[in-house]
Amino acid sequence: MLFKELEMNPSLLRALKEAGYNKATPIQEEAMPHLLEKKDLLGCAQTGTGKTAAFALPILQNLMEEGPTEKTVIKALILAPTRELALQIGESFQTYAKYLPLKTQVIFGGVGQNPQTAALKRGVDILVATPGRLLDLIGQGFIKLNQVSYFVLDEADMMLDMGMLHDVRRIIRELPKKRQSMFFSATMPNEIEKLAGTILSNPVKVEV
Ligand code: AMP
Repeated sequence: MLFKELEMNPSLLRALKEAGYNKATPIQEEAMPHLLEKKDLLGCAQTGTGKTAAFALPILQNLMEEGPTEKTVIKALILAPTRELALQIGESFQTYAKYLPLKTQVIFGGVGQNPQTAALKRGVDILVATPGRLLDLIGQGFIKLNQVSYFVLDEADMMLDMGMLHDVRRIIRELPKKRQSMFFSATMPNEIEKLAGTILSNPVKVEV
């Protein structure tokens, strides 16, 4: 499937073309049509398969279809286990949203919070975060998740290994019930399958 065959925002297609993306990878081909219809997704996929674009492009497309909101609020939240992954995901969103009026911000721990909170005050549409720093900033009142309508949990099994599931569950309690959720994990141990069951509603399953 070619990206230009999907009915997507022309500015989004232009950014993809400039990034050298023409043909969808298998996970993109399988997942994107369902995600564009706002279905929940359980994806069993490794990094390197193109899974970031598989969830980022439908989120951007759906945000553009919703049209402008009066105020810039966090409408999409992507949780990743490490700073490196969060930065990579943030860069992907920035590449694809190059010509869209949507702002992406990445937050993670281990660095000063002031540049991150300053960006949050200016307004963010898409937030990519590691769980610990996100909870910190929620606790300090810098972040509210009550307008999030797109939620992605990436590399869930790595979060389990890193002991982050308690934090993840606390974050999920802050999200509105009505939302689209996407859950990715390279492996599906019992605890991860259970967590997916509590987050997703009637998900489409994709394995690559
Ligand atoms: P990911 O699995 O999301 O980490 O993506 C792996 C790499 O493939 C990243 O460098 C992406 O920029 C690139 N990529 C993803 N989808 C495509 C595509 N359809 N065409 C070309 N490159 C892609």
